[in-house]
Amino acid sequence: MKQCFGYVRVSTQKQGEGVSLEAQRDAILRFAGRNDITVIRWFEEQQTAAKSGRPVFDAMLKDLRAGKAAGVVMHKIDRSARNFFDWARIGDLADRGIDVHFATESFDFRSRGGRLTANIQMAVAEDYVRNLRSEIKKGQRGLLERGYYPFSAPIGYSNNGKGELKTIDPISGPLVRQAFELYASGQYSLHSLRHELARRGLRGASGGPLSKGCLERFLANPFYTGTIRIRRAGEVYAGGHEPLIDAELFERVALVRSGKSGKKVTRHNHLFRGLFACGSCGRAMIPERQKGHVYYRCHVPACPRNCIREEPLDSAVRQVLQAVRLCDESITAIDQLAKKWSRAGARSYDAKTASMRLAKVNERIEKLEDAAIEQIIDKATFMARKEKLLLEKTAIEQETADQDRFGRDMDAIGRFLELLKNLVVHYDYADPMGKREIIEIGTSNRSVMAKNVSVEPANWLVRAEEAVAGLSCADARTTSRIWRLSKHSEQRIQELAALARSSEVERLHQRFMDGYKNAAGTRLHDRIDRNAL
Ligand SMILES: [Zn+2]
Repeated sequence: MKQCFGYVRVSTQKQGEGVSLEAQRDAILRFAGRNDITVIRWFEEQQTAAKSGRPVFDAMLKDLRAGKAAGVVMHKIDRSARNFFDWARIGDLADRGIDVHFATESFDFRSRGGRLTANIQMAVAEDYVRNLRSEIKKGQRGLLERGYYPFSAPIGYSNNGKGELKTIDPISGPLVRQAFELYASGQYSLHSLRHELARRGLRGASGGPLSKGCLERFLANPFYTGTIRIRRAGEVYAGGHEPLIDAELFERVALVRSGKSGKKVTRHNHLFRGLFACGSCGRAMIPERQKGHVYYRCHVPACPRNCIREEPLDSAVRQVLQAVRLCDESITAIDQLAKKWSRAGARSYDAKTASMRLAKVNERIEKLEDAAIEQIIDKATFMARKEKLLLEKTAIEQETADQDRFGRDMDAIGRFLELLKNLVVHYDYADPMGKREIIEIGTSNRSVMAKNVSVEPANWLVRAEEAVAGLSCADARTTSRIWRLSKHSEQRIQELAALARSSEVERLHQRFMDGYKNAAGTRLHDRIDRNAL
């Protein structure tokens, strides 16, 4: 009885041959039984034969050459070797006098005719594999070029069969989109994102959170933007499927992935969130906390690395809020001018005379109407006279109304000046919400370009600055003995009165009053009082 090795191999490529290791082994054992052979050792290989690297095969050849068995029984030619290099090594065994048997073939490998038949079969088998591979590739490439993805769908999409486009899965699709959005926010690490996604319902096959590797792979897969990438081949195709996310979000995720590995990111409501724009693209600068500092960064990949710390933003805002420089002296001066303006209006006004004048006008109107009824005057005369009297009446009523307004405006200007003077103090002591409101009301065109912060005063603040600058202390002094203000100063005061009544200033004043009510406000009050001294 001859002692031989048994060699079996299954390939990992699914080719529908259905010859399991067990089936091959059975065939070899039957052959051995018929041919008086004992299988003394099995060599089992689970690998594709398209590559020549086969460790078990190599070990077996070594043992055969070393004479540890009389020969080898293999299942089939195409199971023994699928490339000519391995085939040549089998031929070499036979040439050395080692028996080579194929359990399912009837030829004698040692004879010249048998060897030729085997060689031809090998050539055909090799060609078959080569053709199969190229056909698969051709088919796949054809599908890819038409936008189809001939592999199983990535998480978030559904498989609809080979020749169909992948469609967004109604359940996992939106969750995948959220995964990109959450990660792009910079507030999640891969680890915390896995758990957050599991909480929302995006889980791995085991029902637990996705593995970190899986999450990393899908966050890097451009399939979600509509692009098919075959990494191995280094090829990219335009997919026909509906994208889940846009390219911009994908890029932002890539940026977070590359730039933030290992850095701790915490959730925080940052003071200037959404208030400053990137100077180059106009999008909001996004806050993040790092090593105890808050940074604002533009997350648009096309922008140069636009990033700034919180402190310069704060000082730029404070500088603008101080734009209207008001010393106590100028407040007093403007106050005096406002009083003068108010009194100038009041001078010609006397409440008693006004009501007497009004009564007189009303009386004359009555008489005129009587005369018209008794036909003492004609219609044309009546109309002309009545019109004149009505105008007079309106003028007197207007004077009275103006007088009330002068008083209100005086108060408003006083409050407004006080507000302008303490705007920065107020800002410093305000709570974060108050600060944000002051920034929104008091400034405009906030942007960051490289390390340059650009903040402009709001329109009303610019106008206030101009009005205050126009009212010099000198003007207050020179006009102190004259009743009437210069036309110039009167216009400035009117401008201040209009600003003092504007909705922006009303809102700021409300903030200012609220400030008094809380603890910080108490300190603010103290400080304002000290400033006033
Ligand atoms: Zn930008």
